[in-house]
Amino acid sequence: MAQLGDLEAGYRRVRRDRGFTRELAVLQREYAGRPTPLYFAERLSAESGARVYLKREDLCHTGAHKINNCLGQALLARRLGKRRIIAETGAGQHGVATATVAAKFGLDCVIYMGSKDVERQAQNVFRMKLLGAEVREVKSGTQTLKDAMNEALRDWVTNVETTYYLIGSVAGPHPYPMIVRDFQSVIGFEARRQVKPVAAKGPRAIYACVGGGSNAMGIFYAFIPTRAELIGVEAGGTGSRPGRHSASLTRGRAGILHGSLTKLLSAPDGNVSPVHSIAAGLDYPGVGPEHAYLQRSGRARYISVTDREALAAFHRLTKLEGIPPAFESAHAVAGFLKERRRYRKSDVVLINVSGRGDKDIPRLFEK
Ligand SMILES: *Cc1c(COP(=O)(O)O)cnc(C)c1O
Repeated sequence: MAQLGDLEAGYRRVRRDRGFTRELAVLQREYAGRPTPLYFAERLSAESGARVYLKREDLCHTGAHKINNCLGQALLARRLGKRRIIAETGAGQHGVATATVAAKFGLDCVIYMGSKDVERQAQNVFRMKLLGAEVREVKSGTQTLKDAMNEALRDWVTNVETTYYLIGSVAGPHPYPMIVRDFQSVIGFEARRQVKPVAAKGPRAIYACVGGGSNAMGIFYAFIPTRAELIGVEAGGTGSRPGRHSASLTRGRAGILHGSLTKLLSAPDGNVSPVHSIAAGLDYPGVGPEHAYLQRSGRARYISVTDREALAAFHRLTKLEGIPPAFESAHAVAGFLKERRRYRKSDVVLINVSGRGDKDIPRLFEK
């Protein structure tokens, strides 16, 4: 608790510093490639019957929104005088984004990754090593993301003097859900400005996929005070039985994981359930606590789509717009397509394309 308190105090101090804000803005522009475009998807609109705009996080450096958070936290780590960065990763995407900023800032970097994921994601492990990071295999528990996060937390508790723990989503103990949401909220603040000329009253609805929930919080946050409907789309996988999906908000119940009270997928005995999704970045058995709050307050709504629906949406967007989305982002597209009859031709709908599909194309090629 003491070190979480210190982190919160340090973060609040750094955030008020104009120099920090300016430095981050320059990096977002020149390193990450912000602002990302808000693109009118003409053919998808014609087919679906709403005016659909895509927020192009797939065009960020490293191919997804994760770099927004990593740049912010790496800069924070440097301000707090930490020379060593650690992180957890499941699919390897957060590990790659963290190793990227560690290289850029010249910081030591250790990535914790479950043995099963190391095996499944060999290419990302190789990328992290190319970037100069050390990848530590975690052999405990289910040997996946949840266990990698346990190990990273243990390392942080032991080495807090030198080490900054860079969490990859709006999950974990406070202040992390707040810090990650703040650094990702650039997505929604940009989109709000960009959508104004085409929708004076704001968009009717916004769709984003939800794993831990960072890209969704990132685009939702600026729109919370508006009238836009906010829809998070979870991974419905291959069925409703435990182990076949990772829909924590739509199928889970209240519980505590990694220091936050949220919605979880767990068995009656309290143990965390195994999870599945075709999108490697969506299989986390919990979800950011602020999403659980938005669900309970009714400000946001959460639905799920199956692997099959996400795959169909991947092909639709690729063929209609020439934009292959990440399988994660394809869930957001699928969520919209599933609900398209709710909308009229004049309704403006935003979809957050959290990442690009290049990483997933080899999977399609194998099949
Ligand atoms: C990691 C990842 C996600 C899931 O993480 P969130 O914290 O829910 O955003 C979604 N899309 C892409 C492209 C990712 O890499």
